[in-house]
Amino acid sequence: MVMAEGVRKSYGTVEVLKGIDLEVKQGEVFCLIGPSGSGKSTFLRCINHLEKINGGLLSVDGELVGYRMKGGKLHELKDREVALQRRDIGMVFQRFNLFPHMTALENVIEAPVQVKKESRADAKERAMALLERVGLADKAGNYPTQLSGGQQQRVAIARALAMKPKLMLFDEPTSALDPELVGDVLDVMRGLAEEGMTMIVVTHEMGFAREVGDALVFMDGGVVVESGHPRDVLTDPRHERTRAFLSKVL
Ligand code: ATP
Ligand code: MG
Repeated sequence: MVMAEGVRKSYGTVEVLKGIDLEVKQGEVFCLIGPSGSGKSTFLRCINHLEKINGGLLSVDGELVGYRMKGGKLHELKDREVALQRRDIGMVFQRFNLFPHMTALENVIEAPVQVKKESRADAKERAMALLERVGLADKAGNYPTQLSGGQQQRVAIARALAMKPKLMLFDEPTSALDPELVGDVLDVMRGLAEEGMTMIVVTHEMGFAREVGDALVFMDGGVVVESGHPRDVLTDPRHERTRAFLSKVL
């Protein structure tokens, strides 16, 4: 579903991604861990067109992100084509980024109505089902300030799902939450995993990675240091850098 080959990204003269190679298979829960500044968020942002890569190849579901190969050359996609690619990717950030002036329900129906031109009635019916699924049907009329952080994150997940994405990106979705709110969000993510959603999850929740993850990558300094099954990497890391990192977070 996601292929990265030698993906590079620089900000000015500083190279943040130094040749990332990885593959995320369909239906897989792919966990990404690594120290602060290692490039985890940058990598997710490249997948979701929030940043442009400077080198290598990155594709989602067989299509190059932002480019088309034609006559052996890369051609940038037009804005309209980029928008079509972005639709298929849902993203949930660390900080709650709901629209503050809209209720939970309005947040969830916004993109289907505005971007996909669904009727309000259809979008609303699906949005209610999604809010139900994340355990918040009774909060549909609440504004973000009237929801806890964990509830806001669950609305954010419902909002992303409303676009029927084929890939979900999670960037430390629980790290800004009070500990007692983390479980509900992880439960929703676990449910999604069980339904077969392909997910890339940047997380410090090693329990989640171990129980739910199908693959785990440890990144440091803009490269993949180690990858494998979460149980193997977490219990028997091969590299000293991975060991040092895990000794701090486990
Ligand atoms: P964290 O665990 O703290 O979220 P991360 O692994 O997600 O870290 P990134 O946010 O991807 O790390 O950042 C990687 C590096 O790129 C950092 O050194 C950061 O300062 C730098 N960086 C990120 N965004 C920008 C930007 N827009 N302009 C310049 N430098 C940036
Ligand atoms: Mg980050």
